[in-house]
Amino acid sequence: MIQKPKGTYDVNGEKGRKILYLEKLLAALMENYHYQYVRTPLFESSELFHRGVGETTDIVSKETYDFIDRGNRNMTLRPEGTAGVVRSYIENKMYGDVIQPVKTWYYGPMYRYERPQSGRFREFYQFGVEVFGTNDPLMDAEVISIPVNFYRLLGLKGIKVNINSLGDQESRLRYREALIEYFKPHLESLCNDCKERFLKNPLRILDCKVDSEKEIMKHAPKMQDYLNEESKQHFEKVKEYLEAMQIEYSVNPNLVRGLDYYTYTVFEVEASVEGFGSQNVLCGGGRYNHLVETIGGPSTPGVGFAMGMERLLTALEFENINPVEENVLDAYIVPLSEEVKKEALSLTNALRLSGFTVEIDTLNRSMKSNFKTSERMHARYVIIIGEDEVKENILTVKENQTKEEYKVALADIIDFLDQTMIHDECDCEECDGTCHHEK
Ligand code: ATP
Ligand code: MG
Repeated sequence: MIQKPKGTYDVNGEKGRKILYLEKLLAALMENYHYQYVRTPLFESSELFHRGVGETTDIVSKETYDFIDRGNRNMTLRPEGTAGVVRSYIENKMYGDVIQPVKTWYYGPMYRYERPQSGRFREFYQFGVEVFGTNDPLMDAEVISIPVNFYRLLGLKGIKVNINSLGDQESRLRYREALIEYFKPHLESLCNDCKERFLKNPLRILDCKVDSEKEIMKHAPKMQDYLNEESKQHFEKVKEYLEAMQIEYSVNPNLVRGLDYYTYTVFEVEASVEGFGSQNVLCGGGRYNHLVETIGGPSTPGVGFAMGMERLLTALEFENINPVEENVLDAYIVPLSEEVKKEALSLTNALRLSGFTVEIDTLNRSMKSNFKTSERMHARYVIIIGEDEVKENILTVKENQTKEEYKVALADIIDFLDQTMIHDECDCEECDGTCHHEK
């Protein structure tokens, strides 16, 4: 049998409903934040990621899915969303849009050739935002508030926000030199990857998962001591704005993030729950004031983040949160014979168009089996259509929970269902959602 590629997964059943629910919630949240939805191709010129994400990142140096297309072009399946969104921002000249700053969000699959393990896939989904055109620290705080509020809405409790500042280019350069100086005599004790990072991007040594517990890392120079006045101010403001939104955070001086392009604020939100596992970073992001220029656009400040959906689903499961309501069927339609199927289908269609969730039997089940099925599907009503019903334009409607039977004129069925579906708003005592009271 042909199997799915390593590091990928299929979605079906309850998981599918959960994912669709989360996607809807994200879209609604982005409306509230007044962000615009953007979509870019799943593949781009390889060069975009080399320039945008950076040669020294694991993502580009080891993890890309590259291919040469039939026109001999080097292409890469996108490993992350930012580079494509920036490319699109420049190509569509969005820096000239009348409404500024340009606030965008995206959602879709990303591809990285990683060693598959829990929380790490080769095809995974990211939701993310990118904001262009403002260097206001308020926007850094707004961007951080998006995942935090999303997790709040879902009821996730065990989350921790870590922030740091890498400062502007000048501060970052001074810090880089300090790190080179510091690590130079200790190179032998670092892992091979770090030896390479030392030459290309020493900041990333701090991000190393292999060396992170070593003594030498703990005493490394701290970025905060190398921030110039302006960078310090920026960071202070971000912290104040987070506090204004009651967002708790910890400053983690070793947080540098995996990508090369960050300046000023960087942040991560982790699931800090015992036993969650090592892939506990739910999302991460930061400010990237030189990225637009690097990719060939006008100098434009930017800030954004990306969130993995798989780890979010795991976190929800871990905290026993199922955000999706039970799948309820309003009506289950039973055509009693081949001859009445047209009428049954016509009714099914009319009800669906009126906003009801409706199923119709297509397996010609026995009456008993149909009732069993309707219960399994949590149907509120079973609507039976036989030749008598068709002749008289009267439907037999059975309520599954109370076992009550009603005769409802075909012309009144929508009203009947409408009336009985208002149970959410009915405030009669002991209402269990099945009463037939009017509003
Ligand atoms: P990590 O350190 O876990 O490898 P990263 O620095 O590579 O993460 P980003 O590129 O910033 O992560 O991606 C943001 C988020 O996307 C991560 O926090 C995580 O939730 C998710 N993510 C990244 N890589 C994967 C993957 N291979 N499978 C599933 N989710 C992923
Ligand atoms: Mg990674």
